[in-house]
Amino acid sequence: MIKKDGHTHTRYSHHGSDEPLEKYIERAIALGFTEYVVTEHAPLPTKFLDNFIGPAGAHESSAMLSTELADYKLAVARVQLKYANQIKIKSGFEIDYLQGYEKEIVQFIMSQVDWIDEIVLSVHFLPTMDGLLAPIDYEADTLATYFPEINDNPQIVFKNYFKAIQQSLNFAETLPDAFVVRIGHITLIRKYQKYFNLPAFDTSNQAYINELLLQIKQNHFQLDFNTAGISKPYNGEAYPTPDIVEKAQRLGIEFVYGSDAHQVSAVGQFYDIAESIVSNV
Ligand SMILES: [Zn+2]
Ligand SMILES: [Zn+2]
Repeated sequence: MIKKDGHTHTRYSHHGSDEPLEKYIERAIALGFTEYVVTEHAPLPTKFLDNFIGPAGAHESSAMLSTELADYKLAVARVQLKYANQIKIKSGFEIDYLQGYEKEIVQFIMSQVDWIDEIVLSVHFLPTMDGLLAPIDYEADTLATYFPEINDNPQIVFKNYFKAIQQSLNFAETLPDAFVVRIGHITLIRKYQKYFNLPAFDTSNQAYINELLLQIKQNHFQLDFNTAGISKPYNGEAYPTPDIVEKAQRLGIEFVYGSDAHQVSAVGQFYDIAESIVSNV
């Protein structure tokens, strides 16, 4: 039986630990994983800086630099060879969907298409009222600064977030079939739910989610069952929430467990919870 961690990071993300990739892999092997996808944040488009708003750290420490790409691929190749008899290691990226940068992102993906086995496509930045892009998962305060409705009308922020997810799906439809596409943590907008005391998604947003799930199903995209939120003090839940998992499973959408590990100790985290919520993780 396959036991897979499909969403993992390395020291190239600059917001995790600098432990070597070997240690992540050895931890995965020790936990009985048979498959492992390295999905470091792909370099952000250079022009993205023009449209980015938020703390400098949120931009500088959210992805590998393009100058590190060669080293990253070398590091993956090294572990693929070294642990070939113990675990299947796949090559990948976590790709940021950034509204307005579709051309640059496709260009990057096409330049790597022969190397990529799987991508996790994620929304971490949303358009602000001024038409800039601000991070939603950097800090609670940052979210409230750029999306103040999170305090008094969070359903609006939810809707904007799902709109961005929908655009990311439209974008993914244009990609070649050469690799697996998995949609990352589709309820990330709830990361600070305890901080803002966020309500459940209202009926209008639930209807929107239903549409998104249909689009995911029609295109054979996978969903990331991401346990990173469980240990976050203001979240305490996996992404997506159990009601969405249930709907997605009824549609036959494939889930893949993702620890979203940014340090060795997080590899495989809460796999038991994933198994208890997702019938075929
Ligand atoms: Zn992510
Ligand atoms: Zn990630």
